[in-house]
Amino acid sequence: MIKKVFSALLFISLVCCGCAKKEVAPVDTLTTIKQRDQIIIGVKVDTPPFGYLDKDGKNIGFDIDLAKLITKRLLGDENKAVFIPVNTSNRIMKLSSGEVDMVIATMSITPQRQMILDFSVPYHVAGQAIMVKKDSEITSLMELQDKKAIIVFGSTVERNLRSNVPNITIIGYKTYPEAFAALKEGLADAMISDDTILFGLEMKDDSVKILPKRYSKEPYAVAFAKGEQSEALIEKINFEINDMINRGVVRQLKAKWNID
Ligand code: GLU
Repeated sequence: MIKKVFSALLFISLVCCGCAKKEVAPVDTLTTIKQRDQIIIGVKVDTPPFGYLDKDGKNIGFDIDLAKLITKRLLGDENKAVFIPVNTSNRIMKLSSGEVDMVIATMSITPQRQMILDFSVPYHVAGQAIMVKKDSEITSLMELQDKKAIIVFGSTVERNLRSNVPNITIIGYKTYPEAFAALKEGLADAMISDDTILFGLEMKDDSVKILPKRYSKEPYAVAFAKGEQSEALIEKINFEINDMINRGVVRQLKAKWNID
């Protein structure tokens, strides 16, 4: 009896350890998408003009339009895109856990992220900029030494600031509206983020200004879980993005959403 229990436990532990699993190839995400007949896409809901909600709670923005075009090209109907809200700090987790097939959410390609994710070709290049209150005398990043700057957690700006302005005090928020409200309340001397995102926040607000200098290059791309399962999907999406760039579709979308 003891022997039987022991063998059963040994069998279960071998299976759980992955000895049996290793032979199973990872499920190809493009095949899953086609079988499901829907694409599950992580998008922003707090980042105008890329991904946000209209007054009826509908997803809108440049990244949403791009997601719909990609869905139409893959499945023949833009309504087959299912949007899942993600933010700057949880989007990597949503991809790695398999909750979404891809993320289209102002996400820059970086060497650190490439170690844990895969990316498409870029569809836009932004640059980090500084936003301050209209009456602020700050003119550059170096003047923020020993001062306070607002950022959104999980964004590329944190790393940049820590290496270039070591004495800065960073105040992080989870969402862009919260970060913007904090700047307006005077909780810090500046807010730092991608220029295109700052322009989206500043658009209807003349109490703030964006300084002219850019401090980085932020190539925005579609992000995928890392691994073999994403290869066919990435190849297909790279083809579609390049085609949309060549046909001027991406340029038209940028004009629609006032993105330079
Ligand atoms: N592009 C930057 C990043 O990927 C900032 C935008 C964002 O917070 O999504 O971190």
